[in-house]
Amino acid sequence: MTGTIFHVDLDAFYASVEQQDNPSLKGKPVIVGPQPGNRGVVSACSYEARRFGIHSGMPVSRAARLCPQGIFRPVRMKRYLEISEEIMKELADITPVFQQISIDEAFLDLSGTERLFGPALQVGRMIKERIADRFGLTLSIGIAANKFLAKLASEYEKPDGLFQVTEPIEFLDRLSLKDIWGIGEKTLDRLAELNITSIQKLRSFSRDILCSMMGVAGGRYLYLAARGMDPGIYSDHPRSHSISSERTFARDKKDRTAINKTLLELSQQIMHRLIVGGWQANTAVLKVRYEDFTTTTIQKTLKHYLTSSDELYRVALELLRKKWNGSTPIRLLGVGTTQLLRPGSLEQGELFEDRDLKRRKVEQAVTELKEKMKGLKLTKASLLETKDRCG
Ligand SMILES: [Mg+2]
Repeated sequence: MTGTIFHVDLDAFYASVEQQDNPSLKGKPVIVGPQPGNRGVVSACSYEARRFGIHSGMPVSRAARLCPQGIFRPVRMKRYLEISEEIMKELADITPVFQQISIDEAFLDLSGTERLFGPALQVGRMIKERIADRFGLTLSIGIAANKFLAKLASEYEKPDGLFQVTEPIEFLDRLSLKDIWGIGEKTLDRLAELNITSIQKLRSFSRDILCSMMGVAGGRYLYLAARGMDPGIYSDHPRSHSISSERTFARDKKDRTAINKTLLELSQQIMHRLIVGGWQANTAVLKVRYEDFTTTTIQKTLKHYLTSSDELYRVALELLRKKWNGSTPIRLLGVGTTQLLRPGSLEQGELFEDRDLKRRKVEQAVTELKEKMKGLKLTKASLLETKDRCG
């Protein structure tokens, strides 16, 4: 049975919020980051700025040279988080099987809901309209049978895109190797040495051969990716006495600003889930996978419970300093907490969040949706087909 996963990704999120909050910036090249003349890099930029070749992670001095008429705006993280939270609430209303993966991206699992909501593309259009009406922001949605393909699909028609992958192999064959999530420059070079220059070619190699050429983890990743099977880009471990979240970079990264930003986002996600789940944790875990796929984890136990995402972020940074020389490109970062405790309840309380609770959440979401989506048939039978996939 195939799933229906939506990857929802806001377009140029920080820059779009700046334009929305200050309409005189609409249609203009907005660059979010320090003023030129300072050190530091572009955090985000509008599509108008991208036409000048500007992209996030670029030093602001270079951005200013490329686009002298660029309008520089400072990062207002608090504001972006505030809007993000509202949007994520709106998205989580659509299905309780929801996984936020960054400040402006989430997966929604709508498997088995066709009879409830109608065809996936129709749901996609509804989501886009709803976010545009309420927040004035555009987003791109990819729909596919798994998270890996959905993520590629949201990128495919970005910005303001909506694309459903119905024929995974045909879709993949339209992409080039560098478009594949998780294939960075190093891997591309290695593949080129082996004369593998397209996804079709990659697919012609057996798993064993790929593993012997690229290592076991690398070979497995490439084997699955070439077939449109999810190699686990956003594995979100089953509920247990730990909560963790990890991110594979599209390109291996050694840029400290980008790496720190990812650590901060992961820390925010983890803290959010701790709070929502009513957990306390005193042990932070960092996982790092380097470009050659070697993977290491390190943890630190504090004398007190973690109290904020900033604190978790600081500990994660401290752990990263012990495990990273600052120059080896990083492929994947993960942040987590273990030794979870829920004050005043059974430790395994979270384990009881099973089908019954999920179903109650679905019913609650549907009740709310009934108000919002008039004219759509909601039946009990289709409710029961709603499957729990994400997370
Ligand atoms: Mg985005």
